[in-house]
Amino acid sequence: MSAHTGTLYIVSAPSGAGKTSLVKALIEAMPQVQVSVSHTTRAIRPGEVDGVNYHFVNREDFLARLEHGDFIEHAEVFGNLYGTSQRWLEQTLAAGFDLILEIDWQGAQQVRRLLPEAQSIFILPPTQEALRQRLTSRGQDSDEIIERRMREAVSEMCHYVEYDYLVINDDFAHALDDLKAIFRANQLRQETQHARFTGLFQQLLA
Ligand code: GDP
Ligand code: ADP
Ligand code: 5GP
Repeated sequence: MSAHTGTLYIVSAPSGAGKTSLVKALIEAMPQVQVSVSHTTRAIRPGEVDGVNYHFVNREDFLARLEHGDFIEHAEVFGNLYGTSQRWLEQTLAAGFDLILEIDWQGAQQVRRLLPEAQSIFILPPTQEALRQRLTSRGQDSDEIIERRMREAVSEMCHYVEYDYLVINDDFAHALDDLKAIFRANQLRQETQHARFTGLFQQLLA
């Protein structure tokens, strides 16, 4: 068990902005960062793996977990239920990992209320056309679902003002660098460094 607890990050974006791809690339580059696997009632997409992308559950199962108090936050997005496991969150942070929650603005508001120290990041597409293009080229949702996600994108994006950091995902490599810079800067914060290098401070100030 590490001596310091990890930092909690919230990452939100309209569907198709590149949140999942950016977070995947970030955690490949930063092994001390983990991403929470949410529970959802959404249908599994081709290529998704249960327990990796999400824990795919039916509505009854989700509601039973909710009733049992398993979720630190939950929300209905595009007609599906999504929730974050409280136990997993607490264990991962206690083990010293930084933890990313890829959640919508409703969930972000709930987490901020409970854990105000959480750092929040909003990812924006460069244009509405690019967003539509990415949803289409991802090739995993029907035209009807893409239309619904485009309709709801503006109401999701309106919430960007509630976030600590904004990343525009135009050029992917540039956006990934921006995201890494946020994590790196937070890892260098005085209180985080102090907790990580307790022995060093004792030695330097002796
Ligand atoms: P994608 O973001 O386009 O890949 O579509 P998803 O179906 O994976 O996610 C749809 C929305 O649900 C996104 O806005 C996610 O941020 C949000 N979401 C995913 N997991 C959670 C969760 O555990 N809690 C909350 N509140 N929202 C979630
Ligand atoms: P989200 O998780 O926000 O819904 P994804 O990570 O699934 O978004 O990305 C949606 C699609 O857009 C994917 O096919 C992804 O490869 C593509 N994409 C992501 N970022 C960029 C970018 N900067 N330029 C072009 N395409 C991108
Ligand atoms: P289940 O299939 O019951 O949803 O969970 C299977 C495993 O995943 C269990 O070991 C459980 O502790 C773990 N788990 C439950 N919720 C989460 C979560 O939100 N994120 C991650 N990464 N693992 C979880």
